[in-house]
Amino acid sequence: MPASHLYRTEAIVLKRSDFGEADRIVTLYTPRLGKLRAIAKGVRRPKSRLGGHVELFIHSKMLLAKGRHLDIITQSENINSFTRLREDLRRTSLAYYVGELLDQFTEDGVENYLAFDLLVKTFERIGESRDPEVAARFFEVQLLGHLGYRPQLHTCIRCNITVGPTGNFFSAAAGGVLCLDCGQTDPRARGLTVNGFKMLRLLQSGDYATAVRVRLEPALRRELQAVTRNYIEFILERQLKSIGFLDALSANGFDAVASRP
Ligand SMILES: [Zn+2]
Repeated sequence: MPASHLYRTEAIVLKRSDFGEADRIVTLYTPRLGKLRAIAKGVRRPKSRLGGHVELFIHSKMLLAKGRHLDIITQSENINSFTRLREDLRRTSLAYYVGELLDQFTEDGVENYLAFDLLVKTFERIGESRDPEVAARFFEVQLLGHLGYRPQLHTCIRCNITVGPTGNFFSAAAGGVLCLDCGQTDPRARGLTVNGFKMLRLLQSGDYATAVRVRLEPALRRELQAVTRNYIEFILERQLKSIGFLDALSANGFDAVASRP
């Protein structure tokens, strides 16, 4: 095979599906090539050299060959397999959700280094954090910014006055906050609590270290989840598959893992 058909990239496996007898098709997210789909041939055979390296959420260095339809993974060496995010169902589900979100929001072949970097950090945080949901909320708000959907949280979307911490509304349709006067006349806007508003601004500021130290009361947790979910679904115009599963976990008390010391 001519060397010009080969290229190296770091990649994270966002999605995988079995194909044929022993192959696997994967969706990769890369630092410089954006999202791409590739095939790992023979990877499900016990003696495959790729075995264990082309798994969900693994961050690796890959050598790929250009293929007619799909590029072919010829070598893969793990950089980080994020073992801790596989240790409990809640963390694993959040990782699925994050991967699905990035997949849904991006087109093939569009470079977005900030999104890649955020993904790597988010997988680490979901695995390590005392409260992995904060890592997921941080990912959502930051990703929206990196993709051009940064919610406006400083001035009212409609009348442009600088908003204070109290009496605000959030409008997914408008893409940000509305002041009290404007919010009250918009039936689709939802009221924001002071803490909800402050936490959204903190998540947007990029200061994860401070955000993760906030102890989220259940009501605030639900509020933040509802605001980001509503906005994301408004943009994507559909519901994400992994959300149903996350909700089922919450309904069955799996939120408890969020309190790892
Ligand atoms: Zn206003």
